[in-house]
Amino acid sequence: MTDLAGWLGQGLDAVHRWQRGFADYPEHPAQRVDPDRFQAAFTELTERLTDNYPYFHPDYAGQMLKPPHPVAVAGYLTAMLVNPNNHALDGGPATARMEVEAIAALAGMVGFGEHLGHLTGGGTVANLEALFVARESHPGLGVAFSAQAHYTHARMCHLLGVPAHPVAVDAAGRMDLDALTDLLDTGTVGTVVLTAGTTGLGAVDPIHDALALRERYGVRLHVDAAYGGFFTLLAGDDPLVDPRPWRAIAHCDSVVIDPHKHGLQPYGCGAVLFADPTVERFYRHDSPYTYFTDGDLHLGEISLECSRPGAVAAALWLTLQVIPPTREGLGEFLAAGRRAALTWADLLEKSPVLDLHQTPELDIVTYFPRRDTLSAVDAATARVFTESMRAPDPVFLSVLTATAADLTRRHPALVADRDRARLLRSVLMKPESLSRVERLHQRIEDLAA
Ligand SMILES: *Cc1c(COP(=O)(O)O)cnc(C)c1O
Repeated sequence: MTDLAGWLGQGLDAVHRWQRGFADYPEHPAQRVDPDRFQAAFTELTERLTDNYPYFHPDYAGQMLKPPHPVAVAGYLTAMLVNPNNHALDGGPATARMEVEAIAALAGMVGFGEHLGHLTGGGTVANLEALFVARESHPGLGVAFSAQAHYTHARMCHLLGVPAHPVAVDAAGRMDLDALTDLLDTGTVGTVVLTAGTTGLGAVDPIHDALALRERYGVRLHVDAAYGGFFTLLAGDDPLVDPRPWRAIAHCDSVVIDPHKHGLQPYGCGAVLFADPTVERFYRHDSPYTYFTDGDLHLGEISLECSRPGAVAAALWLTLQVIPPTREGLGEFLAAGRRAALTWADLLEKSPVLDLHQTPELDIVTYFPRRDTLSAVDAATARVFTESMRAPDPVFLSVLTATAADLTRRHPALVADRDRARLLRSVLMKPESLSRVERLHQRIEDLAA
């Protein structure tokens, strides 16, 4: 059981106790607010917040959305009352150390020994930092990523002025290493981005097979595990995922993990980790106003962002103390979602009404109403998607657009009468999903029939 109100009260008390240790001072009248005005606006706020989908509920089986764990909320709000800035040690000595410890825990999870890393606003900025370092270490060369990689890679290459090379995927949505090898033979690529859990399908690129290419071509390997990173916890003994790509991350040059996706954190928490701490040299700069109390490396010196919330580090640190990044700790959350995806995939394979699009590698399930043509699939998907949200018995799904080639290579009987079609997609990232998949499946079957 969680006791968020109690924990928040404890946090508020602790911060007030600390504040009372300093000299008393009169509050400026500008700080005061009219209680009626506050009440009216706050009531409006809470009312307007009901205009959301129920991300907390297992019947919300749509996008990658869920509230943070109450432990993270307690850590975040308590530290936010102090509002440290993890840019520099002066701005937040306590939370800067928590950030270093939380990063070390993530590095240990993926098998990096010595490392350099920090938290970022999210996976996009974390990937930008990894590609920035890649550009500096392999100047004049391009970046390759799979055609199903997150759109951010093409955009960030554009921003960095680096040529971007999308690489074809195989029938399971993973990077095709033969196509990659042909590209590497041209000598124009310095860095390969491997995705450990694509955003659409949760496909995991063959990182273990790509390791040999690094030796052969001298390329840098960056792993975008923004979504999938914590599935490493399921790759140990008695694995629930193919352990090979996860174990191979330890031998790559950098990795991005989003604690605000599968690490129970509120938004604003990504992380980038480098296996070689000397990449710090690429960030070197002089700031006349920030660093003065410590000779140690400040986190702000190894980050492209300047101000960064110490509260984010506090939330992640606290969470990892209470729910550690182990199979029995945080791994239990991912295992339940993974089992839910496997259970649902089984039901979909037997269903006379729905078709499984692809066997899930993680906890993302893609499926569609059985029809003969892409137009009919697309129309039925759109109808089920809209009708499923209607009361009295709503479920919430998301939609994925697939190309005709993506569909017909997996489902040869489908008639490609148009060039793409929408499918249904469910991200089962809440452990409670496990107890609801039968019901979700039943409900969608009824709608699709
Ligand atoms: C979500 C995601 C990103 C982008 O991360 P944000 O935290 O949304 O900025 C990048 N890559 C992958 C694989 C993702 O799933």
